[in-house]
Amino acid sequence: MKLSRLEKLLLSKHDEEVEHVGFVLKSGKVIEVENICKNPQEGFDVKGEDIALYALTAQATWHTHPKADYNLSANDFNTYLNWPELDHYIIGDNGIRKYIVEDGEVLIDG
Ligand SMILES: [Zn+2]
Repeated sequence: MKLSRLEKLLLSKHDEEVEHVGFVLKSGKVIEVENICKNPQEGFDVKGEDIALYALTAQATWHTHPKADYNLSANDFNTYLNWPELDHYIIGDNGIRKYIVEDGEVLIDG
């Protein structure tokens, strides 16, 4: 699979320590926001202010999975169902995968 410039940029956010999280704006700009999860090794939470700030200008969310692959967690699945208008990228230790939401299902894009 040939990676786009965006996918390469998102892959560079991955590390083995904690989950990183952010948005891809409609302009193409990649924003990283603070992960306020109590266990950032195992999940992510985003401040309400950050969601309010980027909800309207984002085209996608992204987050990383330290020491895990790019498959969906149960939390990811439920979160994505609440954000059906956005695309969602997960960056794992095996690469990057894009998910979309259609008719109440989370699907792998591509
Ligand atoms: Zn996840």
